[in-house]
Amino acid sequence: MTSLRAFLSCRVVTPAGVRSAAVIVEGERIREVVAPEEMPPGMHEVQDFGEAAILPGLVDSHVHINDPGRAEWEGFKTATRAAAAGGYTLLVDMPLNCLPATTDVAALEAKREAARGRCWVDWTAWGGVVQDNQRCIEPLAEAGVAGFKCFLIHPGIDGFTMVREEQLRAALPHVARTGLPLLVHAEMPGPIDAATKELAGADWAVYETYLQSRPAEAEVAAIRMLLGLCREFRFRLHIVHLSASEALPELRAARSEGLPVSVEACPHYLHLTAETIPRNATLFKCAPPIRSAENRERLWDGLREGLIDLVATDHSPCLPEMKRLAEGNFSSAWGGIASLSVALPVVYTEARERGFSLSDIARWMAEEPARLAGCSERKGRIAAGYDADFVVFDTESEFTLSTERLYYQHRVSAYLGEQLRGKVQATYLRGRLVFKDGTFESVASGRECTLKRREASTLG
Ligand SMILES: [Zn+2]
Repeated sequence: MTSLRAFLSCRVVTPAGVRSAAVIVEGERIREVVAPEEMPPGMHEVQDFGEAAILPGLVDSHVHINDPGRAEWEGFKTATRAAAAGGYTLLVDMPLNCLPATTDVAALEAKREAARGRCWVDWTAWGGVVQDNQRCIEPLAEAGVAGFKCFLIHPGIDGFTMVREEQLRAALPHVARTGLPLLVHAEMPGPIDAATKELAGADWAVYETYLQSRPAEAEVAAIRMLLGLCREFRFRLHIVHLSASEALPELRAARSEGLPVSVEACPHYLHLTAETIPRNATLFKCAPPIRSAENRERLWDGLREGLIDLVATDHSPCLPEMKRLAEGNFSSAWGGIASLSVALPVVYTEARERGFSLSDIARWMAEEPARLAGCSERKGRIAAGYDADFVVFDTESEFTLSTERLYYQHRVSAYLGEQLRGKVQATYLRGRLVFKDGTFESVASGRECTLKRREASTLG
């Protein structure tokens, strides 16, 4: 019999609420969650975290690991260590920015090879839907991707083509047959091309110019088109990184109609505001763009109402020179914000101010992303039978973000210097301590999370 271990805290975040409890772990799994006084005798080890909260290990359903092929931007080792330091225990890797892009089974196998022995947390992959890979969709599902990702606009990098409506129509019957979700970067090129043309002579060192070049209507038009396709093809639609709150009424109507659609927010849209982005500060460039403070509050309202289901990082690192910091031009700089190691404090700081609880955080950042990725039978909850994935989170400590806390490959960040609340003390992956107070487990014990997703995934 494997020996039992107990993890205690006054605030264990379970699906039934936040309570004082002992989480009993047997091997890699949670055996049961009991009141501290009901802890069975003969524990091999008891760890009491006192006032620090124990949350389920976070799940990030939107990460660009860039490996294989662009490991100089990031890679499995650095991304998964930054994840462990940020309280994440499962990452779902996006199919682009790596080479080859994950658009066929051979590319998925190359990714598995790149990941082998180099992961500090668990991972799984999204497959890509591009112009011409319709015949690869079902084989990718068979081979174990969690679902698919496509772009309605040029993704800012060659090697992963965008899809126009007719190409999407060719892909959707295949996607629908897999039962897996299709994640979509929802911006239409039309409004963006038109706005950009108008801004040819504008000052691109100013953030406002970039913001005007990506109007909310590009997102609204894309979401409207996607909801129509969702109605027609009945596939599971997931809108990644919603930025324009103007789309929320459409999404509300889609929900009441019963369409299988889910929506994601990102820490940067929930924390940063366009008004405060300094001149030349291209670290803040991402697509869709960070919008106004007023828009940010509407996104929080969307989370409160449940129209936005989850928070994922869209951790999208690059070589520092690609941010063109010296030049400070918002037109030529790479769009993407890296945040794996700081997302939890960023979201917690904002959520707490607005009266949200740790249960909300666990739902947005663990349970719902795990559901999206078809891993919700084993990941994203502190409950019997689940993987013993935890983050020990000290909600009371405050800190100023400095580069030592970033851990990913290139320690540049739009959040440096920010006052944040909440510190990740320790992260446990399937019962193993993988991160504690700035140090990592010496071996890489992360592995691919492969579940039988088609049975596991139910629309919720
Ligand atoms: Zn992304």
